[in-house]
Amino acid sequence: MTTTRTMNTFLSKSRYMLGLQCPKALWLNNYRPELKDEVSDSQEAVFQSGTDVGVLAREIFPGGVEIPYDGLTTTEQLARTRQLLDNGVTTLYEAAFSHDGVFVKVDLLHKGRGGWELHEVKGSTGMKSVYLDDIAVQYHVVTGAGVPLRYAGLVHVNNQYVRQGGVDVQQLFTRQDLTENVVDRQDEVRDRVAQLQDMLTDEIPNVVIGPHCYNPYGCPFHGHCWAHVPSPSVFDLRSYGKPDPFTFYREGLVRYTELPLDRLGWRQRQQVEAHLNQSQQVDQAAVGQFLGTLTYPLSFLDFETTFMTPVPLFNGTRPYQQVPFQYSLHIIREEGGEVEHHAWLAAADEDNPAAGLLTSLLAALPETGAIIAWNKVFESRILGELGDRFRKLAPEVAAVRERLVDLMIPFRNRAVYDWQMHGSASLKSVLPALIPELSYDGLEIADGGTAASSWLRMRTTDDPTEREAINSNLLEYCHLDTLAMVRILGWLRERVG
Ligand code: SF4
Repeated sequence: MTTTRTMNTFLSKSRYMLGLQCPKALWLNNYRPELKDEVSDSQEAVFQSGTDVGVLAREIFPGGVEIPYDGLTTTEQLARTRQLLDNGVTTLYEAAFSHDGVFVKVDLLHKGRGGWELHEVKGSTGMKSVYLDDIAVQYHVVTGAGVPLRYAGLVHVNNQYVRQGGVDVQQLFTRQDLTENVVDRQDEVRDRVAQLQDMLTDEIPNVVIGPHCYNPYGCPFHGHCWAHVPSPSVFDLRSYGKPDPFTFYREGLVRYTELPLDRLGWRQRQQVEAHLNQSQQVDQAAVGQFLGTLTYPLSFLDFETTFMTPVPLFNGTRPYQQVPFQYSLHIIREEGGEVEHHAWLAAADEDNPAAGLLTSLLAALPETGAIIAWNKVFESRILGELGDRFRKLAPEVAAVRERLVDLMIPFRNRAVYDWQMHGSASLKSVLPALIPELSYDGLEIADGGTAASSWLRMRTTDDPTEREAINSNLLEYCHLDTLAMVRILGWLRERVG
């Protein structure tokens, strides 16, 4: 293919990192940016969270000067940085440098006693190998631009930090010195920069899809490069193990009709065969055995929790800890009995939602019987963290955890499988396959992520009508999660008589 284009070998740090992941992605970014996928709300939330962490980390070196992105061209950002350095400023946020055809912005540049330090801020709770490439290219550019660095390292979130009152920035973050590793990589960085710039003077590189499309980051050109993959395909098989789907893909075995069943695991084979026959399978003995473990009264429990935020939202919580702000509870006290419903949702101004939730839940739960959850690992973890926080209630919480039963088990074990589950045992996959009339379609809030962001929105909006609407949407959504379990249990009972 011959492309008419204006040469664009410009590299920023993010373009350099994209090129390391896949040269084709960098080429598309520079010449065909319109082919990028739309940024989803959840990706936007991740970007925003990264920005918020970066801004907070500035307090490690307070009193610095920011070189903003907005309103300044890259040339102006470079000139502003140079001017501030010439004026003797010793702490800069987002300082801009250019060297060797690469433009970078440094999260924190600080002049300590021994000289200049470069700090890259990440919202993660530890080191990842990709960060070394990130910091190494910054080191290459900053030192090449005439600022000698005595230190280059990572600032990441300390997952042991427990918030008490305001955020203690010095405790929230941990620093990791990577200077030696980064210096060792400088020859490699120079070579890679040259290779990528060279690649950008040529036609689009021929790169086929592979694990690099996801690793270390989701590629923004996924939709473009993967458009030829049919649906369903080998990539939709769950728990595929070995050989991996790319092995089949490279052999031209992509559609379900093309896949050699003898090379698939039993779950994969079940998924393919059920799909091709549009069939449903129920292992009555296994389902019956599972149902035999349930004792009345039956309680069906579901929590909604906050996002995993790097900065703890509430006192007594750690980074990325999910705090429950809502539960829904259906109860059937005896066989053939009425279905009761209980719910609790933290008010918009609730200071500590976990305390109110736990008190309400312990009062509402029957003292005996099975407590049914979907993927009980989650509910058990949340309860365990509540027990850790509210020590006086810990024995009661522990007893509740003991009674948890996972309704996902017959589906995860494939004792029940319907082709419309598409290999998944999630509630959102099982419910429409078995009970299509009970649906999340049409709900304003239809997933946990939206529930979490809606609750945060409810806390910040000044509009009482919006607050009221979110409140009722949250109640409706969480109610459906537990009602779905009631109905699915009923479905299982009918199937085994
Ligand atoms: S989707 Fe995969 S092959 Fe395509 S540009 Fe991205 S990483 Fe490269």
